[in-house]
Amino acid sequence: MKKIITIGEIVVEIMAVETGNGFRSAIPLIGPFASGAPAIFIDQAAKLGQPCGIVSAVGNDDFGVLNVERLRNDGADVSAIAVHPTAATGSAFVCYRPDGNRDFIFNIKHSACSAIGLTPAAEALVETADHLHIMGSALFSDGIVAAIHEATRGIKAKGGTVSFDPNIRKEMLDLPGMREALGHALENTDLFMPSGDEIFLFTRATEEKAAVAELLARGIKAVVIKRGAKGASYFDVSGETLAPAFKVEEVDPTGAGDSFGAAFVTCWLRGMAADKALVIANATGARAVGVKGPMEGTSSMTEIEAFLAARNLSGVSS
Ligand code: ATP
Ligand code: MG
Repeated sequence: MKKIITIGEIVVEIMAVETGNGFRSAIPLIGPFASGAPAIFIDQAAKLGQPCGIVSAVGNDDFGVLNVERLRNDGADVSAIAVHPTAATGSAFVCYRPDGNRDFIFNIKHSACSAIGLTPAAEALVETADHLHIMGSALFSDGIVAAIHEATRGIKAKGGTVSFDPNIRKEMLDLPGMREALGHALENTDLFMPSGDEIFLFTRATEEKAAVAELLARGIKAVVIKRGAKGASYFDVSGETLAPAFKVEEVDPTGAGDSFGAAFVTCWLRGMAADKALVIANATGARAVGVKGPMEGTSSMTEIEAFLAARNLSGVSS
């Protein structure tokens, strides 16, 4: 089986218990939860039984232990997670507003995550990889950008593949070096996985079909657009395959895109047809939004099969 790696932040998330407007007074909180978009992605791939690992860094503290033990227990290779001697594990505080938007306070760039880079352990992990998943939100430090460049070069040179989820808010686009780093990722991408309007981040076209055509003409093999409660579409040169979402109650959307992405990449690497891969990825996303906590809704293949069987869709994964 092909081995997937990713490079980026591991953090804990601490959530406001009730909807509200930020953190300017004392409120009930719940957490810490294991989190970080690349970490959620790799945890989900591991739970589906795909060989996988992450290049990252945590502090020498309980938040780090919580994350590393979680990833290890779920089957991910944790050999390239460095433990920073002095800085604390990254963190994110999140509060849901009544309108459904979220307020965040991040401590990532200046946390243990600042040490993420190509350590000897990371180089050894990259050597074993067949596929690199790039998460746009991880491109916040020079060390990570350099590590991703090096991993991309090595993995592509031996015939491996790259997937890329921009996973970025417009405000982050103007961070120094961000556009260049995103552009480099796109140039090397085989499977591009934007959500919603992110499809237009790199195109002149402002209409979806034309934007997809522009990306495919640049050498990207396939594009998967995540559409939240509307499901997802797969595009390649032969056209579009659309799969509606499963009807579930949305308890917490955080992590759905990362879980969906890991399930789709896993199925794609296993050579599964796009329509089946979309059903499994949609089921994985639907299970993720049904659970509070960013990584709490990741699924094993047994859980996905049970979810599908309950909807008369047995056998999709075989
Ligand atoms: P993230 O906030 O993690 O970055 P995203 O914007 O990348 O999310 P979404 O499109 O929100 O990704 O969600 C990914 C997938 O999860 C969807 O394509 C769909 O399959 C599933 N999903 C998301 N929201 C819902 C929902 N309300 N009901 C059912 N499925 C959902
Ligand atoms: Mg996303």
